[in-house]
Amino acid sequence: MNSAPASSKLRVVLLTSEMFPFSKSGGLGDVMGALPVALQNQGADVSVITPFYGRLRTAGHEIRLVKSDCPVGYPWAPVTAEIYKTTYHGVNVYFVARGEYFDRRAYYNTYEGDYFDNCERFTFFVRAALSWCRQFDAAPHIIHAHDWQSGLAPAFLHFLRRSDPFWQQTHSVMTIHNLAFQGRFSFRLFENCGLPGEAWHMDGVEFYGDFNMLKGGIAYADAVTTVSPAYAREIISPAFGCGLEGILQVRRPELHGILNGADYGVWDPNNDRYLTCAYTPETLDGKRVCKRALLREFYMADQLEDRPVLCFIGRLRRQKGIDLLYEILPELMKYEVGVIVLGEGSLEYEARLQELVEQYPGRLGGAIGYSEDLAHRIHAGSDIFLMPSRYEPCGLTQMYALRFGTPPVATAVGGLIDTIVPHPSPRATGFTFARPEAEQFLEAVHQALELWQRPAKWQAMMKRAMAQAFTWDLAARKYLDLYASLLAPTATSLGAASRQTDAEHSNPLPGPVRERAEVAYAADQKVPEKQTRMQSGL
Ligand code: ADP
Repeated sequence: MNSAPASSKLRVVLLTSEMFPFSKSGGLGDVMGALPVALQNQGADVSVITPFYGRLRTAGHEIRLVKSDCPVGYPWAPVTAEIYKTTYHGVNVYFVARGEYFDRRAYYNTYEGDYFDNCERFTFFVRAALSWCRQFDAAPHIIHAHDWQSGLAPAFLHFLRRSDPFWQQTHSVMTIHNLAFQGRFSFRLFENCGLPGEAWHMDGVEFYGDFNMLKGGIAYADAVTTVSPAYAREIISPAFGCGLEGILQVRRPELHGILNGADYGVWDPNNDRYLTCAYTPETLDGKRVCKRALLREFYMADQLEDRPVLCFIGRLRRQKGIDLLYEILPELMKYEVGVIVLGEGSLEYEARLQELVEQYPGRLGGAIGYSEDLAHRIHAGSDIFLMPSRYEPCGLTQMYALRFGTPPVATAVGGLIDTIVPHPSPRATGFTFARPEAEQFLEAVHQALELWQRPAKWQAMMKRAMAQAFTWDLAARKYLDLYASLLAPTATSLGAASRQTDAEHSNPLPGPVRERAEVAYAADQKVPEKQTRMQSGL
């Protein structure tokens, strides 16, 4: 690609550890499948750089090798990365490949815990990504890093700008998708990452004696964003700041909350290949057909067709309040309702789900595992969506639930505040409760069940929910405005950096090297997909 003339458009490179449809473990994957395309559609020249996970080899995407020896530099000096490429809706997607780091069963962890070398894996990823950009004909105007896995990119860029003229027009943005995941490692790993020693201080990557990769991104990025306005307000407080509230307060003038969008090209009940029947606000009978099919799929009682079916889709983690759902289940089961849960997470929560399914045969359906198509069918076939999160940076599932006419019952936190209009407003699209406590949750579910018994009012709420539009175009415009605001003062802010001489600061990344001929990529290795275990007591 380097032989192509540099684009005169705004050049944006996004670094991410997940991108749907190539990789996804949660909301980050969805966001990165949609935001780059929306930015490109609005005139930017967008590239994404992401790891090449082993499972991609058998996923059927057309991906080709464009460089077999991308240098990564000290302390990996003899080690190089392979770079693969594809295009996705016009966006260039580059994959950083190195088998020992990314050919694994999972992205970040197993049931035993995080991979022991996550620091090395994602430092390698960031350095390879920047090194690959260094070989472009023109530097990106914006490097946009997402979550801790890419958090070192703004830090490296900060120091590179001082020594390498190539980078002097480049600005960085750090987006926090979930502050609880920070990439926190031992100080000893900092010593090997390639950043200069001066990055080790409390306004840099140091965090209570540890090396914190997300903190590095927050400290050194030209702008910091998070994925909803409410979460941006919350994270500067100790209750939501996960220990980083101090540095976030320091960065407050540059901290922005930009609400995620939902990709309605993927999440639309009128056009969804996974559903038995399409439906719209005008043809809600189709949702009934989906409900019948879903009950069969989970071997649940036929009588539930005429009763409310509640669902939960998400990680089985404390963040998502799955324990609160387990706590209120016995009470819920006293009513004639069905409940369906899809998720994977800690062994403890998975085992508890299994027990509960056996306890309530035919009334509680559980699927432990990760299943994209099942998630769609559950959204379509359920009546009420449960989301008792303790915190929620944005949350996408409630947006999908709204579009599928499945009003959510959710805690009033983070992005849930920004996306749900709570009952009893005349514009209500769902139900919220103030604190993540079982009693409040149950009370909000009661309100939903009451309204469900008044079909005209319930249908009106469903239709209002389905009419909500959290488009990526809107979000992309906000990101473009932010990028533009960073570029405007370029002459002054970069003037200081360019006065530094090369001798003053060592360049942590190697310079350009010659690109090899493009080689077709041959799929040669099979990685088995994790199976979803579908269960019902019946
Ligand atoms: P988070 O990123 O915190 O996990 P979000 O609501 O932002 O939560 O996004 C979660 C995404 O992951 C949604 O697309 C949701 O459908 C999907 N998802 C979560 N768990 C599962 C699962 N077990 N099977 C299929 N999809 C899942």
